[in-house]
Amino acid sequence: MAQGKDPPAAHAGDVMQQTVRADRHSSRRKHSVIIFGTKGYLYQLAILTLVCGRCGNPAAHTLRKRVTKFTLFFVPLFPISTKYATQCTFCGAEQKVTREQADQLPAQGAGPGTDQPYGRPQQQPHQH
Ligand SMILES: [Zn+2]
Repeated sequence: MAQGKDPPAAHAGDVMQQTVRADRHSSRRKHSVIIFGTKGYLYQLAILTLVCGRCGNPAAHTLRKRVTKFTLFFVPLFPISTKYATQCTFCGAEQKVTREQADQLPAQGAGPGTDQPYGRPQQQPHQH
């Protein structure tokens, strides 16, 4: 009974030690360094005249696209996130917009006389 039990236990211990040693060895041999990170790109898409939500002035707003790309060894591979924002040139307030809004905003600004759902300058009533 004892003879049949001992050898397997010792054998299992040997295997354990061997795997630990093998792991250490392989981790020491793996000396390659992977350099990765992100890089931000800023694109100015358009300049639009909008009524600012903060200062209330119908001022020029820059429409910007900020793309964050994943880089491997300083080489940009693919974009991780794309964000759009408008910035008021009057007070500097930045407002985040969705991609759909960013697509629609230049069309609104380009078409004069179109009924804009927002950003319409206030009309003063005639005084007579
Ligand atoms: Zn403003």
